Amino acid sequence: MQPILVLGTRNRKKSEELRGLLGDLPITLRDLRDYPDAPEVVEDGGTFEANGRKKASVLAKALGQWVLSDDSGLVVPALHGEPGVDSAVYAGKHGDDEANNDKLLERMRNVPDELRGAYYVCVLVLADPRGEVVGVSEGRCHGRIVRVRRGQGGFGYDPLFLIPEYHRTFGELSSSVKQALSHRARAAERMRPILRRTLLKDAQASEGGFGS
Ligand code: IMP
Repeated sequence: MQPILVLGTRNRKKSEELRGLLGDLPITLRDLRDYPDAPEVVEDGGTFEANGRKKASVLAKALGQWVLSDDSGLVVPALHGEPGVDSAVYAGKHGDDEANNDKLLERMRNVPDELRGAYYVCVLVLADPRGEVVGVSEGRCHGRIVRVRRGQGGFGYDPLFLIPEYHRTFGELSSSVKQALSHRARAAERMRPILRRTLLKDAQASEGGFGS
């Protein structure tokens, strides 16, 4: 039987992206929508990694399952790092993408073109069923913030996040391009060897699968 890995998110888009990035591994992927009683974890760590570690560890212990948390967000140096770890709640209400984008546009109204660089960060944290963190990976993706929304694809700040090489925002680019370039894709690529030497090895060992 395949081992189970719970993606520590209730965000459908994040979960879909992670499934697309890790779905070829011999692992059964679930997410928090399969565990309605999973605790709400307060993200008060101050960094993506601290929040990710807390989320993965608390959830893994509560569920008694392997958990992979995804803590991610947008960093705009011209705004001294905003929205940063507050990306999901930038305008007040958790996950209100429209309001968050409006706030970002407003905050950047007077920022000149040459200072509109930004990057996405994704930190993935893997915890074992006892809640021990066994691996952390990070990926970044660099772009620029445009002045009006462009495209319907992706989620969050994607309609405002331009990939200069493509002259298009993640809202306009196909999901396969985002899945090749994104912060999440880069973090997932780095998480693969960690999954192989922990979760997958553990599953093999408990089936007595070594060398047989
Ligand atoms: P978290 O759920 O606390 O990690 O917050 C993630 C927030 O960061 C989301 O609500 C989005 O606002 C933003 N974010 C993270 N990844 C992406 C992405 O791939 N595209 C657009 N926005 C993202």
